[in-house]
Amino acid sequence: MADKFDYDLFVVGAGSGGVRAARMAANTGARVGIAEDRDLGGTCVNVGCVPKKLFVYASKFPDIFEIGNSFGWSCDSVNFDWPALRNNKNTEIKRLNTIYADLLNSSGADLFYERAVLKGPNTVALGGKSYTAKYILLAVGGWPYIPEFPGSDYALSSNEMFFLERLPESAVVVGGGYIALEFAGILNGLGVSTHLIYRGQRLLKSFDSEMTEKVELGMRAKGINIHLNTEVDRIKFVRGSHDVLLSDGSRLSTDLVLYATGRRANTDNLGLHKTAVERRPDGSIIVDKNFRTHEPSIFALGDVIDRVQLTPVAIQEAIVLVDYLFGNAAQLINYKNIPTAVFSQPEFASVGMTEEEAKETSSGVSIFISDFKPMFQSLSGGDDRITMKLVVDRASDVVLGCHMVGEHAAEIIQGMAIAVTAGVTKQQFDSTIGIHPSAAEEFVTMRTSAR
Ligand code: NDP
Repeated sequence: MADKFDYDLFVVGAGSGGVRAARMAANTGARVGIAEDRDLGGTCVNVGCVPKKLFVYASKFPDIFEIGNSFGWSCDSVNFDWPALRNNKNTEIKRLNTIYADLLNSSGADLFYERAVLKGPNTVALGGKSYTAKYILLAVGGWPYIPEFPGSDYALSSNEMFFLERLPESAVVVGGGYIALEFAGILNGLGVSTHLIYRGQRLLKSFDSEMTEKVELGMRAKGINIHLNTEVDRIKFVRGSHDVLLSDGSRLSTDLVLYATGRRANTDNLGLHKTAVERRPDGSIIVDKNFRTHEPSIFALGDVIDRVQLTPVAIQEAIVLVDYLFGNAAQLINYKNIPTAVFSQPEFASVGMTEEEAKETSSGVSIFISDFKPMFQSLSGGDDRITMKLVVDRASDVVLGCHMVGEHAAEIIQGMAIAVTAGVTKQQFDSTIGIHPSAAEEFVTMRTSAR
């Protein structure tokens, strides 16, 4: 390898993508350095997927206690201790940080707990020293974006939500995407009076509209106050409470305001001006199909390139990039049929095309839908429902899209994603034997198309 450089690869940012790239490259025998100035594991481990899912689990217990009564359990006197949840979560995240450090160290990569700044196409500076590298990988992720408006300084981002000193009694959550819906569910489940404010007409607007309507209905049924076509005009802090003025003229008095209005690439103060790396107006780095920036020695992947802001995608991008730089093959990443889940309550997961997308590309589609009450609710009379939907190309019988709202949607759709990726037909769904009694079996028993 190129001995005139200190490293073959220097990775800036030890999140999901950066760590995977560093470990895999080191495993090929490349000399690898990696720098991180916050906690190892990036957004996902520290202020994203992992702590969020732990909070989602915590927020579901009130429903479970209620249903438990119908199964003969006495769950009438229960208490919730926010500091216990937050501190236990912190302990678990520290454990994961240590695992990440161990994985990097055992791969042979040099780990620097420092902020790295680019000094040129092949040079990074950190901790008062400079290092050269044949290739530099920017995997610095994103950061919550909060628009500026009167009182926007009072708004919290998801980053702070994971470390709250105390649980609020009331909260206003702004946004209609993943984070807004997930936190609205968490707060509501933990007993916080929750309002969700969204400027558009339909939550999760890029997903299948029929399914997102079910998500909205389910959230409303759980007690979340949803305000569509509404914006926040200003926030004031009056007598210990936030006074939130909405665009319809109404006002909400609340303990906490959370803005979940997207995440932007973390590319300021990175020294990019010392290189030919180019950014879009939103700060995200422009790369080609091999993740190469306009500076030939510098690559970027993950949230910072703002293609698909999902951990498993960043990891797959890292695998493909390391193969391109240090392996034999130059495979390209396939962004088609990426399964995804929103851990809202009810949960939503999907893979493949929405009905709207399929109708644009296909000469004819058949839609299969099943909507039912899960067996878990049968004794309690609870009103949770499950909805499943298949979008099928009529000419080829290929299943183009598979969507689910309800309990365990993420777990079930992950399996469906394998089939959809493999090009499964509806006939193959029909000839698959179900597991009884399960919710998932409904996916293989939908015989009559709804339209
Ligand atoms: P999203 O892009 O999902 O949603 C952002 C929301 O904020 C949209 O509803 C958008 O509205 C709204 N918005 C944007 N700007 C403004 C504004 N100025 N005023 C009012 N509303 C505004 O971003 P998130 O922050 O929820 O999450 C960031 C990304 O992180 C996600 O896209 C996802 O890729 C990833 N993520 C994945 C999770 C998972 O896999 N379960 C969980 C959490 C995050 P509009 O639709 O009108 O533009």
